[in-house]
Amino acid sequence: MNRMSLRFISVSDNVGLARVAVAALASQADFSLQDIDEIKVAVSEAVSNAIVHGYPGRSDGEIQVTGMLDAGGLTVTVEDWGVGIEDITQARQPAYSQDPERMGLGFVFMESFMHGLQVESTPGQGTRVEMHRLVTISGELSRDAQ
Ligand code: ATP
Ligand code: MG
Repeated sequence: MNRMSLRFISVSDNVGLARVAVAALASQADFSLQDIDEIKVAVSEAVSNAIVHGYPGRSDGEIQVTGMLDAGGLTVTVEDWGVGIEDITQARQPAYSQDPERMGLGFVFMESFMHGLQVESTPGQGTRVEMHRLVTISGELSRDAQ
């Protein structure tokens, strides 16, 4: 059982900061290197979204990442107090992006690499993404996680 919290401003260098911190926490549990790589991708996507979409044109926005390890696995939250999302269902559609230059795959990666993804958002108030990853052994759920 362990818990951490990291708060930083909306500059793109902090994507790496959050990714490394969550990976270090995850490495305390029985995750494989591949699991940890996948967790890192999911965290990077959520933090990039907070920076790019939550605080467009701003580098002073607050972002908070928390990580919690327990017998059920790893829970990560990424929260911003930026512009928020009008239509969460549409935002989560594969290939949907408000920006034609982007692939619109961030939420797809988060969903495919984690075992649970919840998105809460209020326009004008911000967005909170919560993701869970179970500890698995060669693809099977471990006894602890069941
Ligand atoms: P990609 O991740 O492939 O670069 P993308 O960021 O547009 O493209 P997603 O990560 O799937 O794709 O996000 C879909 C859409 O959801 C974004 O285009 C944006 O409109 C909205 N969105 C996601 N996260 C946030 C956030 N934290 N704040 C505001 N809007 C967000
Ligand atoms: Mg994205």
